[in-house]
Amino acid sequence: MNKIYGNRLLLSTVRNMIKNNHTANSVIIFGEKGSGKKLTANYYANMLLCENPYDGYPCGMCSSCRNFLSGNHPDVIYPETSGKLEGYSVDTIRDIIKDAFIKPNNNTGRKIYIFRDCRNMDSRSQNMLLKLIEEPPEYAFFIFTAESKYEFLPTVISRCVCFNTSPCTEDEVFSALSEKGISENEINSAVSCFHGNIGMCLDYINDGNLRKQVDLTKRISDSIIRKDEYNLNSALCSIGNDRKNILAVLSMLDKLMRDCAVFNKDKSARYIGCCRESAEKLSLMLTANQAEKIHRCIENARNAVSFNVNSSVTMSALCAEIIDVIRS
Ligand SMILES: [Zn+2]
Repeated sequence: MNKIYGNRLLLSTVRNMIKNNHTANSVIIFGEKGSGKKLTANYYANMLLCENPYDGYPCGMCSSCRNFLSGNHPDVIYPETSGKLEGYSVDTIRDIIKDAFIKPNNNTGRKIYIFRDCRNMDSRSQNMLLKLIEEPPEYAFFIFTAESKYEFLPTVISRCVCFNTSPCTEDEVFSALSEKGISENEINSAVSCFHGNIGMCLDYINDGNLRKQVDLTKRISDSIIRKDEYNLNSALCSIGNDRKNILAVLSMLDKLMRDCAVFNKDKSARYIGCCRESAEKLSLMLTANQAEKIHRCIENARNAVSFNVNSSVTMSALCAEIIDVIRS
């Protein structure tokens, strides 16, 4: 399996859990996009299935490892999301509950359910799941990944072992991406946008859409810097109707506002957003208080988009609110 960078403490905890036979049947792995949730989930699943694990590592050679690594393990189940909000429906959970009571057919005698990117899971689905994870069949394991553990009800959280993934250091990202043969220039520009987040750095290098989102975020911040309402509106509306795109751009814009507020107090502070230069320019024309107000406007827009409010109406309203704040 792929070498995992960063998250050392988390991985050694998982390793010890397995070495000491204290495997948890239900696990929530949460953290920002690109911070290694899927790799950690796969590592845990692979370890649970390996027939000859060695010192906390899967062997990679046994039939179970080979099936898992090729994505064809019969006892690893990836439930599917459905609907506009891409949640796990009551029907899906009902099917999983039935399936969980059918014994596994592999040599390690385990069955693993990996629920990826949990969000917008309604409370009925979660309450059904709760009954299953409270008294799971001994052989069944449930791994949930999510950006925040608060996607889950407190009752579900209390039944799971929770792991928080965190970004790597920038040096670790350099090593990881150099090993993949990526040029120094490309790594530099990716790291300047996404810092220690390997997944996002890789996406930035390989995925034209993410680069477009970064460019658009810079265009939006330029319009704010120039107090140019017309271009701000056209940039915000040009994101289109795709909810994921809108949420990604708003999240990057929000980080720029955070950096702007921080630079207001300390010009040499670390930044977390996709462009240091934009945040510095913003901090010259916005007070920390104005940046905080814009952050709240962005937060409202994100909620509206998450709840399926018409996107062009939401973006136009956001434009008007931002202009109000910068003119106040
Ligand atoms: Zn193995």
